[in-house]
Amino acid sequence: MTCIATLGSHCALQVLRGAKDEGFKTILICEKKRERLYRRFGFIDEFVLVDSFLEVLDQKCSSALEQNNAVLIPHGTLISQMSSEQIESIKAPIFGNRWILRWESDRNLKEKLMLEAKLDVPHSVSKPSDINSLVIVKRRGAAGGKGYFLATNEEEYIKKREKLIKEKLITSDEELYIQEYASGVLAYLQYFYSPIKNDLEFFGVDKRHESDVEGLARIPAPQQMKEDGITSFNVIANSPLVLRESLLEEVYDMGERFVAASKRLVKPGMNGPFCIEGVYDKNAKFKTFEFSARIVAGTNIFMEGSPYSVLIHDEPMSMGRRIARELNDAMNANQLDKIVT
Ligand code: AMP
Repeated sequence: MTCIATLGSHCALQVLRGAKDEGFKTILICEKKRERLYRRFGFIDEFVLVDSFLEVLDQKCSSALEQNNAVLIPHGTLISQMSSEQIESIKAPIFGNRWILRWESDRNLKEKLMLEAKLDVPHSVSKPSDINSLVIVKRRGAAGGKGYFLATNEEEYIKKREKLIKEKLITSDEELYIQEYASGVLAYLQYFYSPIKNDLEFFGVDKRHESDVEGLARIPAPQQMKEDGITSFNVIANSPLVLRESLLEEVYDMGERFVAASKRLVKPGMNGPFCIEGVYDKNAKFKTFEFSARIVAGTNIFMEGSPYSVLIHDEPMSMGRRIARELNDAMNANQLDKIVT
C-alpha cells in the first residue's frame, strides 16, 4: 500500500494530513462542487473528481485507486451515502473491517453487537402501543439525527409520525426505531484497536452539538411547546471533553468488550478506529445508544493529539495519522490482511 484515499467530506482533511505525515501519497475523491475548498490544502496529492460519491463504484474511480495501490479510509459520509451492499462491493481495499459497517447501519444488528459486548443499552420498544415512558424515535439508516422526535405515549408518537410522513421524510412505521430516552452527559468515546499490537488505545472523547435540540434548550418551556415537536439532532460541531479519571477503567473495559464481541460476531472484528456513543447518567453509569465502526468526525478536534493520545504516543498523533501508522506497521510486519479488508 503506497497511497491513502478517502472521500472529500467528514474527516478527510485529518485523514489525508495524517497520511502525509506518515509518508503516504494522498488521494481525495472529491465532488466537483467542493474542489475549490480542498485545493487549499497542499497535502492532497491527487484529486479524483466526481459528480457523486457513488462513482466510487465505477471503473474510473476503481482504476485510479488501483493504479496508485491505494487503500480507502471509510468514514461517515461513505456510510450515509451508500448502502451496505454497495460498500461491500467497493473494489479498492478498505481500512478496517468493511463487513462491520453493515452492523453500524442496521439498527437491529447494531443493538445485537452492543448487547453481545455487554454494554448497557437503552431498551428498544418494539411497537408504539408499548411506549410508557420518554422515548426517542429515530429514523433507521443514516438520517444523521434529522427528523427524530421524542414521545411519551402512543398518541404523541402517532401525531409526530404523521408529520414526518406528510413531510415525506418517511413512508411508514417500519422506518422508525423507538428507544428509551437516556438522559445525562453526552459522551462519544473514541478508540483505536490495533490487531497488529493486539492493543486498545483510548484516543479521546468529545461531545456533539446538535441543532435544533440545543437551540430548544435555550428557550423557555412554553415557547418550546409551540415548536412542531420534531426535535432534530443534526450534528453541527463537536467539542472536547475530559473524563473524570475514575471513569477510565470502565471506558477501557467497554472498548475491550466491544472488540472481543465484534471478533465473535463479525470477523475479523473491530480493527482500527471506532466510537462508543452514549450518556453518563447521574450515577456516572454509561448508557450506550450507538457505535460507529470507523473513524468519527469528533476526532477532528484532536489534530495534534488529545489529552489521552499524548499519554500513549510521544509525538502529536491524530486518529488520521494513527490509521496511517497502523498501515506502515502492518506492512512492516507483513500483516496487512489483518487491517485491510
Ligand atoms: P444517533 O442517530 O443514534 O446517533 O442519535 C443522534 C443523537 O440523538 C445523539 O447524538 C443523541 O443526542 C440523541 N440520542 C440518540 N439516542 C438517544 C437516547 N437513547 N437517549 C438520549 N438521546 C439519544
